[in-house]
Parts: sequence; C-alpha cells; structure tokens
Amino acid sequence: MKSTGIVRKVDDLGRIVLPAELRRLLELDDRAEVEIYTEGDTVVLKKHRPSCVFCGAQEELRTFRGNCICESCRMALCKD
Ligand SMILES: [Zn+2]
Repeated sequence: MKSTGIVRKVDDLGRIVLPAELRRLLELDDRAEVEIYTEGDTVVLKKHRPSCVFCGAQEELRTFRGNCICESCRMALCKD
C-alpha cells in the first residue's frame, strides 16, 4: 500500500470526499460502490466489483434475490 500524501478532514456526518483526480485514476464514477476494510487504525477503500456469493468469481454473474451468483454455482445448485 502506498501513501497518496492526501489528507482530508472527516465532516460532521462522518463523510470524506475522495479527490477527483483519485476518482478518475480508479475509474470511480458518481454512483460507484466501494468496500470498506479496516486493520487496526487503518481504513482501506476498495473499488467494489460484484462477485459470486459462493465462490467469489467475478464473471458470468446473475442476480438472484439481491445476491450475485456465477453460472458455475448456479448450475451446481440446479443439480442438487
Ligand atoms: Zn460461484
């Protein structure tokens, strides 16, 4: 992990703004989703990429009742 050198204040509602340059670099558009990770006193934001709830695959996804499932897991479920 490398430092960006950017320091931002958290506002009264707990929000921070990701600098436009960083959003452009990471291709985060206006409604992009980010996942929040923590480790000790460190907070990491990661660009969210939908993945299968069972195996974590990120290809051939379908949504079922609000969850993503890949074709392979869907086929395995259909066999049972
Ligand atoms: Zn899967």
